[in-house]
Amino acid sequence: QVDIALVRSWIRSVAAAVDAHKDQLTEYDSAIGDADHGANLHRGFSAVLDALAAQEPATVGDVLVKTGSTLVSKVGGAAGPLYGSAFRAAGKKLTEPTADTREFGEALAAGLESVRRLGGAAPGDKTMVDAYAPALEAFQRVAAEGGGLAVAARAAADAAEEGVRATVPLQARKGRASYLGERSVGHQDPGATSTALVFGALAEAAE
Ligand code: ADP
Ligand code: MG
Ligand code: MG
Repeated sequence: QVDIALVRSWIRSVAAAVDAHKDQLTEYDSAIGDADHGANLHRGFSAVLDALAAQEPATVGDVLVKTGSTLVSKVGGAAGPLYGSAFRAAGKKLTEPTADTREFGEALAAGLESVRRLGGAAPGDKTMVDAYAPALEAFQRVAAEGGGLAVAARAAADAAEEGVRATVPLQARKGRASYLGERSVGHQDPGATSTALVFGALAEAAE
């Protein structure tokens, strides 16, 4: 059962993970981008915490829509609009005060669809999609088997981490890293790395 308290705790946990891994995210982005991914997300999720503290949500989706809108308005670059649209699209699916694991999985699927529509990246392009797609697949597999949120979220987090590691040998085909061509090979994608933090935070909140 997913309720408002749980999604709020998820987002707080994302903000804490981004805070703890800010320098690491920026380091990855300095190798194949412009060294701002950690700072971008940190600024975004700090603003999200403020926005959520002032909100009285009526539905699970309200929390996620507010998270997404805040990210869109506070974070520039590629990741802000992409994460923003994902949280917003997921939130729009959750129009009740609670959701079950399967419904939550459908919301996560809407989030990925939105990232892919907006960014045009496919799996293997060395982007956040390479963590999000396997995480979603794992989540939905567990949910279809009748597994609860905690088990589904743990499976998703593990799959996301595996997806992140698999970005290292890839050549980037989207975003700034793609400007490097073959020189993007051999580095972990920063956006995939932060996506794994998002799913890790979900597993933590669901425990
Ligand atoms: P910017 O590249 O504008 O500085 P960030 O550094 O915050 O933005 O985010 C970079 C991350 O965004 C990349 O590591 C990648 O995972 C993700 N990204 C970039 N372009 C796309 C895209 N078209 N689709 C999906 N993810 C993308
Ligand atoms: Mg960057
Ligand atoms: Mg930038």
